[in-house]
Amino acid sequence: MENTRIQLEQNDIPTHWYNVAADLTNPPAPPLGPDGKPVTPEGMSAIFPGAILEQEMSTQRWIPIPEEVREIYRLWRPAPLCRAVRLEQALGTPAKIYFKYEGVSPAGSHKPNSAVPQAYYNKQAGIKRLTTETGAGQWGSSIALAGQMFGLPVRVYMVKVSYEQKPYRRLMMQTWGAEVFASPTDMTNAGRAALAADPHNQGSLGLAISEAVEEAASRPDTNYTLGSVLNHVLLHQTVIGLEAKKQFDKIGEYPDVVVGPCGGGSSFGGIAFPFLADKAAGDKRAEKLRCVAVEPTSCPTLTKGAYAYDYGDASGYTPIMKMYTLGHDFMPPGIHAGGLRYHGASPLVSQLHHEGLVEAVAVPQLATFDAGVQFARAEGIIPAPESCHAIRVAIDEALKAKATGEPKVILFNLTGHGHFDMSSYERYFSGKLEDYDYPEEAVSASLEHLPKVG
Ligand SMILES: *Cc1c(COP(=O)(O)O)cnc(C)c1O
Repeated sequence: MENTRIQLEQNDIPTHWYNVAADLTNPPAPPLGPDGKPVTPEGMSAIFPGAILEQEMSTQRWIPIPEEVREIYRLWRPAPLCRAVRLEQALGTPAKIYFKYEGVSPAGSHKPNSAVPQAYYNKQAGIKRLTTETGAGQWGSSIALAGQMFGLPVRVYMVKVSYEQKPYRRLMMQTWGAEVFASPTDMTNAGRAALAADPHNQGSLGLAISEAVEEAASRPDTNYTLGSVLNHVLLHQTVIGLEAKKQFDKIGEYPDVVVGPCGGGSSFGGIAFPFLADKAAGDKRAEKLRCVAVEPTSCPTLTKGAYAYDYGDASGYTPIMKMYTLGHDFMPPGIHAGGLRYHGASPLVSQLHHEGLVEAVAVPQLATFDAGVQFARAEGIIPAPESCHAIRVAIDEALKAKATGEPKVILFNLTGHGHFDMSSYERYFSGKLEDYDYPEEAVSASLEHLPKVG
């Protein structure tokens, strides 16, 4: 019987993260503060520890992973690389389809890969408490887990509508010892202002960010954590691609195409960047490698957004960053059930896309769930709706290979399981989901509100 699950030993957990900034042809554009000048580390030191700020701005290629972090990674890493043989058979494709399965972490997704080092560096810096925001709860549960591992209390501002509609992620956070509040709260100026304007405010991610940042900025013992977008988060996530490369080495294969879902871009960067390192180093195997970031047609940041400076949050509270954006006041349509609804994308992924080193594809919602269900029926694992975006494109690539008869090697990132997302599947099965193309006019209208630079 052929081996379809390629395992590594715990000693194979990477000892260094890979920093793609070392291999960029053009230097990354710095984030800018309200004065239009590049943000300094001192300007951010009220909410982030020094080690994280150093990583955020570093151009050093390899950054050591602290032993304490590797010891916690051992709880679920190395994550398996699996070959989806039953899916290949169902598709009748000559392609080999591999997936890196990040759903094996305690929180069920790739997010703890960055939550653990973020908690570690804060603990090292003498910080006593962490804050964050969460929408559906994937990041909140990851930082709750990581905070618990290092004895750091975590306070999560959870968007009120999710707090009420998604009790199980909230209970996970509470099980790992975090305090969870429905945002807007009456504990911050941002929350009180929102409640004064509308006592029934249902909350938004932008507002929850404002609350979490305000608390961290106003308390010297407290820092803020963010689960995607920023350079240090993508750096931490490169353990995904670094392990995958070792696993491919073990079986003497190399992917032709690497596919990942893209919201803020952390898991996509995490799987793709280590392969792009081979390309940058002139590795023959990577000459024709394609990396494809997949997003929903209802939130088409990389495919329809502008490459411009914009705020990271809805309320214009954060520094501005150069990235693909739909405008910080973008509102995802209510019909959208598949996650990946952030208005921007990681500046690193954005730059690589702008320079033609990574591709982007937008896929409609129904075809995305079709792919997820087809995968679940062939391989057993029920994917997170976000991951279904990558599965859609992996299947499409496998079908193209079938048409041309090429035995392509496809790798996709199965970023998480969907056990807490069954209500999205329920909406799909009961016919309540529709396809939705975010209209060009709405994109241009939002882009008029971009901050003016220079
Ligand atoms: C958060 C999340 C994503 C999207 O975030 P990225 O930063 O783009 O990776 C994708 N898949 C899962 C399972 C997630 O929890």
